[in-house]
Amino acid sequence: TALLDGQFAVITGAASKRGLGLATARLFARHGATVAILDLDEGAAKDAAATLGENHVGLACNVTDLDSVKAAFDALIQRWGRIDILVNNAGITQPLKIMEIGPKNYDDVLDVNLRGTLYCSQAVIPHMRENKSGKIVNMSSVSAQRGGGIFGGPHYSAAKAGVLGLTKAMARELAPDNVRVNAICPGFIATDITAGKLTDEMRATINAGIPMGRPGTADEVAGCALFLASDISSYVTGSEVDVNGGSLI
Ligand code: NAD
Repeated sequence: TALLDGQFAVITGAASKRGLGLATARLFARHGATVAILDLDEGAAKDAAATLGENHVGLACNVTDLDSVKAAFDALIQRWGRIDILVNNAGITQPLKIMEIGPKNYDDVLDVNLRGTLYCSQAVIPHMRENKSGKIVNMSSVSAQRGGGIFGGPHYSAAKAGVLGLTKAMARELAPDNVRVNAICPGFIATDITAGKLTDEMRATINAGIPMGRPGTADEVAGCALFLASDISSYVTGSEVDVNGGSLI
């Protein structure tokens, strides 16, 4: 059965071909949602949306820029009249150690992961409140819970931990209006964010730390996003859901 029939969903950072955002967009579309893919490059966003079938939308949006966010969400509200689901998926990471983090590194990583989540959420909240219905899903990370790993820097851990705090605070504030806000904490998932950047030795070390002994797939994260974005999770809010093959056991 289609879990998102007639729903309108916005997913940020979803143009990346092997990314969690596009896998989520694909699954949402398969479940009957109309999806907007927002990403930095307009052409890439449109191409990605075209792979989902007809009626889906690709738009340029830099989540760190308030004007860009307003323009994209205004255009969608005008087109659709409503937004039911927001997935704050856009994110960047940098493999730095604590003393290597300069002011610009800190700004860049905090801006995309944390500021972007705030700006996009603020763009949909008034509409969701008015409709007395809405679902926001934020991509955090196991890095927030265990202080990073081989790949994410401490500033990435801080940003993703910030996303958890923002998730819980928004969930508390918006619960009376039936707007649910949850976070997903993926463990190590094979996407472009890590592609080509890991040696075989790093890979073996990572797999050894995962009870299931393998990285996750983008589709396995998408399944969790579908659960949180659909009514089968109707009493779930303010939660962080681990999708990590047992990495925190
Ligand atoms: P990815 O690099 O494949 O995709 C990220 C997308 O975000 C890209 O398409 C990029 O263009 C876009 N983006 C970057 N800056 C942006 C901005 N300012 N505005 C709009 N879009 C922007 O990454 P992914 O692995 O698919 O990760 C998706 C999310 O999941 C990220 O938030 C990431 O931190 C998180 N995550 C990933 C993993 C993993 O192992 N892959 C683990 C935990 C969390």
